[in-house]
Amino acid sequence: MNDTTQKIESHRKLRLGMVGGGVTAFIGGVHRIASRIDDRFTLVAGALDNDAERGKAFAVAIGIDPDRAYDDFESMIAAEAKREDKVDVISIVTPNFLHFPVAKAALEAGFHVICEKPMTTSLEDAKTLAEVVKRTGKQLFLTHTYTGYPMVRQAREMVASGEIGELRRVQVEYAQDWLAAPDEDPEAATANWRNDPKKAGQGGAIGDIGTHAYNLAAFVAGEEPKEILAELTALVPGRKVDDDAAVLMRYANGAKGTLWASQVVAGNGNNLSLRIYGATGGLEWWQENPEELWYTPLGEPRRLLRRNGVGATPSATAGSRIPVAHPEGYLEAFANLYKDAANALETGGKAELVPGADDGVAGLAFVTACLKSSAEGGVWIAL
Ligand code: NAD
Repeated sequence: MNDTTQKIESHRKLRLGMVGGGVTAFIGGVHRIASRIDDRFTLVAGALDNDAERGKAFAVAIGIDPDRAYDDFESMIAAEAKREDKVDVISIVTPNFLHFPVAKAALEAGFHVICEKPMTTSLEDAKTLAEVVKRTGKQLFLTHTYTGYPMVRQAREMVASGEIGELRRVQVEYAQDWLAAPDEDPEAATANWRNDPKKAGQGGAIGDIGTHAYNLAAFVAGEEPKEILAELTALVPGRKVDDDAAVLMRYANGAKGTLWASQVVAGNGNNLSLRIYGATGGLEWWQENPEELWYTPLGEPRRLLRRNGVGATPSATAGSRIPVAHPEGYLEAFANLYKDAANALETGGKAELVPGADDGVAGLAFVTACLKSSAEGGVWIAL
């Protein structure tokens, strides 16, 4: 296991700032861990909370210099822009409605951005942000987590190299149950902003997890559908946004797809799966068992491909840290996004496997089309 031929690379550690991700938050902590796994970032500044005092206290507790623990994102961006040792990149891990103002301000002040999904709460804002990225020449990395999994990257490579033949069917499902309780239930308290269209956007489950499913399918298929038909429903009585979404998809070559996203189905934790079939084979991947990719060349037995195992493709190997059968998972997938972002920032190149602003626009175009299709009683909408 000691590979003495391994090249030793040295890198300047990138200085990271963070907006959101306070003591009560979910994904901020994941970003902090992911940023450190490959020793490429150091967290030096933060405006971590909507409660400024709690945010500053937490920032200091996790090692941020008190001078760089800020009340809010505006003061962080203004103060950092004046420093010689300013942050290189700002991670945005707030509720959705803040992604746009924070990302726009950060990019315009000269910072690169790592942004949570959905990129914005409206298609109009997404398009504006993509223009800001172009105008400023700064990079925006969109953390669609699932593109970071080695076996998802392998599936993408296998589809691109023709191992399933011409695309026939895409079946993507993202099922959870953590929003199954009524909004007024104390159990649902941490999810409150997700059920508020002003904070989450008009799309509920379709924006929160439907965009992940859509991005995953497009990432692996190598293409987006040309039109969709959607039925969005709030199955929990009184909920102001959808919590269940069923979407039919048509691809340019006549291939068909189905996307189902639901946050109210008992027994489902983070049950994301992708099954993709072509004329000569099929691939199947389950997020809760992410080390495995099932491959069936038509007419042959179903084969189990394992992360960093026999038959691993270059992108899957590059995204692995430890040998086959020593489980990696969510945190390492997230770390692949951070590592690829660091490489792109260091070289000034693109992170080919990390979604960017254009994917953010595609996600919002998808959500917008689903809302329109559903509101009109289920009509086909061109993307
Ligand atoms: P959360 O409610 O757990 O945390 C949000 C954090 O943002 C809190 O600490 C809150 O204090 C802070 N915040 C709110 N307003 C702020 C402000 N004005 N300034 C600074 N901080 C502020 O939410 P979460 O589940 O961590 O989700 C955050 C984002 O991450 C959302 O956009 C969500 O869609 C996304 N997300 C992505 C994934 C993924 O797999 N990539 C998973 C979960 C959440």
